[in-house]
Amino acid sequence: MKADFPVFYVTQVVRFFYRFIFLSQERVTHKLKNKRIDNLCGSYNNYTMTIFPVENHRNREGGNLVYPVYSRRSGGLSIGINLSPDKKVCFFDCPYCEIFPFTTTAQFSVKIMKDELIYAVNNAQCRAVRIQDMCFSGNGEPTLSPHFEKALEAVHDIQKKAAPEAKLVVITCGAGLLRDDVFSCLQNATNSYGLDVWLKLDAGDEAWYRVINKSAIPFDSLIAKIKEFVRRSPMTLQTMLCSVRGTLPSDAEEDAWNALALELAQTGNVRQFQLYGKARPSAEDRFAEAAPASYLEKRAQTLKETLTRGGVEVPVSIYT
Ligand code: SF4
Repeated sequence: MKADFPVFYVTQVVRFFYRFIFLSQERVTHKLKNKRIDNLCGSYNNYTMTIFPVENHRNREGGNLVYPVYSRRSGGLSIGINLSPDKKVCFFDCPYCEIFPFTTTAQFSVKIMKDELIYAVNNAQCRAVRIQDMCFSGNGEPTLSPHFEKALEAVHDIQKKAAPEAKLVVITCGAGLLRDDVFSCLQNATNSYGLDVWLKLDAGDEAWYRVINKSAIPFDSLIAKIKEFVRRSPMTLQTMLCSVRGTLPSDAEEDAWNALALELAQTGNVRQFQLYGKARPSAEDRFAEAAPASYLEKRAQTLKETLTRGGVEVPVSIYT
């Protein structure tokens, strides 16, 4: 009996450590599993992913750096990147602009943007929702942000590794093209890894530009830079068609816009024309009104005829 005594205690100690280690592993595995699930489908740092519908993109005014939306022009889920969470920053003052006056204390940080973007990508994949694009838009003109270049690199890195099926898009009014650093950054990104620049071309002449974009940048300087860019790099042209103070673009403006569109398309570098109507509320709704769908169809038709006469073929899409 005395000889069995140490064996008994040794066995108990071994069993104790075995159970302790085994159960700890179970607990750790369980925790990791939950953590993984939390990371995929829960919330990150008070940021819960809601995919906003087409008619409401407003949560970017709530200070989020990353805002997933269903987008007409992207054809599905677009993960928006907002470089100006604290205030609107833009050289244009379009009456149809969807950014309402707001106040937040949110600040942009590349690190937080990356964390939120990874969370949003995981969350979309967890729900089996295809990510059509990651899109710089947000509260104003993204290329004017001092963080633009670093943020673009970081988003490209995540897109490449985590969602290679998604396109990388920058929606721009073109004002950034007047700065050499922005011009080369966009050009390099476009030519080296296929960044899709969606450039605003709302007006074909100075008169309508003053009404629809209300920008202090001279129309001719802006158009000259756009021409210079498109000669070297591909881009998508996007045009808002709506009425301002009850007036649609004149016939002369339509002719001037078609001629400019043709000149740009003849470089062979216009990927697509996007003609889109006003689908969401704007802060200046008393001035800007949606045009009838028939007007957008007519404009698409005259654009196609102009392109055909000029011997160019470029897809023209309408978003009402
Ligand atoms: S360019 Fe875009 S952000 Fe700037 S005022 Fe126009 S709609 Fe708003």
